[in-house]
Amino acid sequence: KTFARSRSLMDLVKGEPRRRVHALTEVDLSVRRGETLGIVGESGCGKSTLARCLVRLHRVDSGSVTYDGLDVVALRGAALRRFNRRVQMVFQDPYGSLNPRMTVRATIAEALSVHRICPRREMPARIAALMDLVHLPLSAAGRRPHEFSGGQRQRIGIARALALEPDCLIADELVSALDVSVQAQMVNLLLELQERLHLTVLFIAHDLRLVRHLSHRVAVMYLGRVVELAETEALFAHPRHPYTRALLDAAPELDPSRRGSAEAAVRGELPSPVNPPPGCAFHPRCPVAIEYCRRVRPELVRLRDGRLAACHLAATEDGLVQSTEL
Ligand code: SF4
Ligand code: MG
Repeated sequence: KTFARSRSLMDLVKGEPRRRVHALTEVDLSVRRGETLGIVGESGCGKSTLARCLVRLHRVDSGSVTYDGLDVVALRGAALRRFNRRVQMVFQDPYGSLNPRMTVRATIAEALSVHRICPRREMPARIAALMDLVHLPLSAAGRRPHEFSGGQRQRIGIARALALEPDCLIADELVSALDVSVQAQMVNLLLELQERLHLTVLFIAHDLRLVRHLSHRVAVMYLGRVVELAETEALFAHPRHPYTRALLDAAPELDPSRRGSAEAAVRGELPSPVNPPPGCAFHPRCPVAIEYCRRVRPELVRLRDGRLAACHLAATEDGLVQSTEL
């Protein structure tokens, strides 16, 4: 009986056609050395998938990822390990990535020794310097993760990442779960580290407010695509894509804590990324959509001021498309 049941379970699993989710399409992004690029969008828009593709936690079936001249998708063995050291990801939930039984000292020491960053005798000085860099008191070196607040645990996670002397840091919703005051401290810490260590930072968030403070440029993503990419001030002063505009207009006054959050921003549900709407994927939620938008997908094009946007109307406004074509 048990066998029969398990077999029917198996069949169910087998009967399910294998679907591969193309979570990202034509995400054509470049990050400049020493730049902070903010990436915003609702959860499910592909921000995390993008980050995970970049560090090879996800397979990239088609397309390319190039890092400082390296073909990341093709890296193997020692070259991949070197790359993984150079590009470090720091996560939202340090609880999940810190070993609860290991002290701060042991956590950083492990990172240093696994990657043979320095000889053993230099470790205490290295550990002290790294803790200082993230403003953790040296007296905390012997404590374990549960003895720290959420923000402090993230400092430990960042110190561990920095132990590998990366040149790029990818922060995926790093501060999203923290209190607003702690968020500000973390954002300031990232700003400080970015300047002191000349890091390239990819800062992924659903909160425009945080992204603005930190980023040189901002990419707005919707359903696995970049829909607008601009210098931060230009994006906030003159959003050109209706989705960006909706994010900026979101929830004024009524609930200031949610202002600018992509989660609260836009009317209607986020459609499934597996089966996105035809034409412009944003059209069911777009307040200015026209019939043409339902049929024809807008390309990501460079507008007159140099930013990128994927919207028929923006392209028409800039004279890149004749309005009679729409
Ligand atoms: Fe709206 Fe059309 Fe622009 Fe899409 S292409 S954002 S539907 S106006
Ligand atoms: Mg995510």
